[in-house]
Amino acid sequence: MSQAEATANDSLIQKAKRHLLQNYKQQPLALVRGQGTRVWDADGRAYLDCIGGIAVCALGHCHPEVTAAAKAQLDTLWHVSNAFYSQPQIDLAAMLTEFAGLPRVFFCNSGAEANEALLKLARKVMKDRGTPERFEVISFEKSFHGRTLATVTATGQAKYHAGFEPLPAGFRHVPYGDLEAVRRAVGPSTAAILVEPIQGEGGVRVAPQGFLAELRALCDAHGLLLLVDEIQTGMGRTGKPFAFMHEGIQPDAISVAKALGNGLPIGAMLCKEALAPSLAPGTHGTTFGGNLVAAAAAQVVVRTLREPSMLQSVAEKGEYFLARARALQARLPAGRIQAVRGRGLLMGVDVGQESGPIIARLRAEGLLVNAAGETTVRFAPPFIITHAELDEALGILERVLAAL
Ligand SMILES: *Cc1c(COP(=O)(O)O)cnc(C)c1O
Repeated sequence: MSQAEATANDSLIQKAKRHLLQNYKQQPLALVRGQGTRVWDADGRAYLDCIGGIAVCALGHCHPEVTAAAKAQLDTLWHVSNAFYSQPQIDLAAMLTEFAGLPRVFFCNSGAEANEALLKLARKVMKDRGTPERFEVISFEKSFHGRTLATVTATGQAKYHAGFEPLPAGFRHVPYGDLEAVRRAVGPSTAAILVEPIQGEGGVRVAPQGFLAELRALCDAHGLLLLVDEIQTGMGRTGKPFAFMHEGIQPDAISVAKALGNGLPIGAMLCKEALAPSLAPGTHGTTFGGNLVAAAAAQVVVRTLREPSMLQSVAEKGEYFLARARALQARLPAGRIQAVRGRGLLMGVDVGQESGPIIARLRAEGLLVNAAGETTVRFAPPFIITHAELDEALGILERVLAAL
């Protein structure tokens, strides 16, 4: 490796530190190229990418069909705004509503925007029903719903609130998985319950079996909306198109983003037909939402995930990883792995100590992952990852944890 190559990574990071707002805890790696499950840093080192842009690049980096669709759209038409109709967005709407089993969709650019749409929908529906006193949303401790003022307030983690007070009114948090606590929190001002089927950022915590179905029943009993944040768990990540489908329920509305565009920014809010009239012309909108290039890419994502074999393989590989990681837990000295959690290809290995130094050692061994919560290492690899690559990741994990 020449001197110039050896320092490319460091010089990019130095430049970043001079100019970028220092609001992220970034891993000290400048990535320059990706293909499938591999990425390369500026010094030419290859890594097995088991985080995939934080559960975004579900079909892998530079997936040939996604890339081709985006390139074709770049040569055709980039942007017209939502003042006009456009075919990529219309076709995607038809495909995505069918995939989710919810008939209406609003396109935006990110997860937080999709959740904002959920929150605005809930308030507006209650106004339109003649119950304006119902504006409060119940969400969960350790949840994550985004960084805008409303979505960060819905987020049940004090560390994300600190310094941004006063926070918007109308949010309260209860322990995740605790139906009795939800029941106690429901009152005359409750409009909706907002829930992640698996708490992703909060540490890859899977809701107890039946919890979503119980929330559905509670919402039905009290006339509340059940809003499911599928930003991380959706688009096939857990082995079904959306994680709520494991419980056979229908939410009133869901939010989608992350994997929808395989890396191009696009989000969506989908809802039941009966709720759609509340967001009538003029009530909500965005300039870039449903951007044509992102919509063209997302069509390929949905089409690919519609293949039953694709989601079967996600479920199967997820089980394979969880079983292997639990065997590793049993093999290692007690406490090296506190818990293994997850579903499909969203997996958390709780290392029972601050995960940052362990993640750094995994990176030095050529494996990219990230932190979820304080003590959990998150794996959210592309769906195309092979069994051999999962073994490779687990082998690195074993070496690093055994050497602690
Ligand atoms: C990532 C995420 C968000 C926020 O999405 P952004 O695109 O970062 O705004 C919201 N909810 C969940 C569950 C997420 O995983």
